[in-house]
Amino acid sequence: FLADGDTCRGQALDEIHAAVMARPCDGKVADYIPALASVDANRCGIAFATLDGEMHAAGDANIPFSIQSISKVFGLVLAMQRMGDDIWQRVGMEPSGQPFNSIVQLEWEHGIPRNPFINAGAILVADTLVSHFSSSRQAFLSFVRRLAGCERCDINEEVLASESRHGSRNAALAHLMKSFGNIEAEVDDVLSHYFFQCSLEMSCTELAQSLLFLANRGVHPLSAERVTTPRDAHRVNAILSTSGMYDQSGQFAFSVGLPAKSGVGGGIVAIVPGLGVISAWSPALNKHGNSTRALTMITELAGRLGLSIY
Ligand code: GLU
Repeated sequence: FLADGDTCRGQALDEIHAAVMARPCDGKVADYIPALASVDANRCGIAFATLDGEMHAAGDANIPFSIQSISKVFGLVLAMQRMGDDIWQRVGMEPSGQPFNSIVQLEWEHGIPRNPFINAGAILVADTLVSHFSSSRQAFLSFVRRLAGCERCDINEEVLASESRHGSRNAALAHLMKSFGNIEAEVDDVLSHYFFQCSLEMSCTELAQSLLFLANRGVHPLSAERVTTPRDAHRVNAILSTSGMYDQSGQFAFSVGLPAKSGVGGGIVAIVPGLGVISAWSPALNKHGNSTRALTMITELAGRLGLSIY
């Protein structure tokens, strides 16, 4: 298998994708905004980008979808680049054990979010971006486009408008943090950045390519750009391992064993340190907000290729 790993990976992707498509699809497409509810539940794709420049793909791997919470990874990395260690004074690194948009813990913990991958934490990160860039939206978009090697990646304006219209809970999180003095910029500006990044659309292949630096100690292997220090790449992967899959992160570590992030658009990215990045997408979600088919495909691929980091 080591001698012809590429053939093996490509074949594994095809077989796993075909097997998942042959079974009925469990779960329910996110319906908190109309723009997400109208996505075809039968879409399903998977891509595996490797550090040596190979890209394997199966199914709808080139169709852009709403990356939603996966954007929290890009936001965090950009904020770490800009702020250095100061960011860890304002956001924690512990799993929350609560739903992604939970508000109670934030009150108990005096406006310091548990980690950067729950909504409160990502809104806090958005605050640092708004405060550090003259145009945080433009900075965010350029950053992601550069990592993905793709100028086409863009916001879905319809998703953005609905996020803003249905964002009361996120507004409540932002205002609560502001009341504790942990949000510096205007709440409306922070929320508008947060909704903007959630509305970004990317395909599985673009996502897998854009996050390769996390599998390569902070250096993007295709552009040779140093995106983070090795220590910061380690830190992002560590928090992804404990908190990237909503309140199913423990189970994901137990059954797969890779740093990963999911979003309610049905995408999941999983980092395979030293090897590459897997990205899978299918819109129907389980009760934790994770895509049922993407979860199955990544679990099977990681098991079959022996990818667990543990
Ligand atoms: N825009 C969504 C929200 O903040 C992101 C949800 C997600 O993917 O977890 O509610």
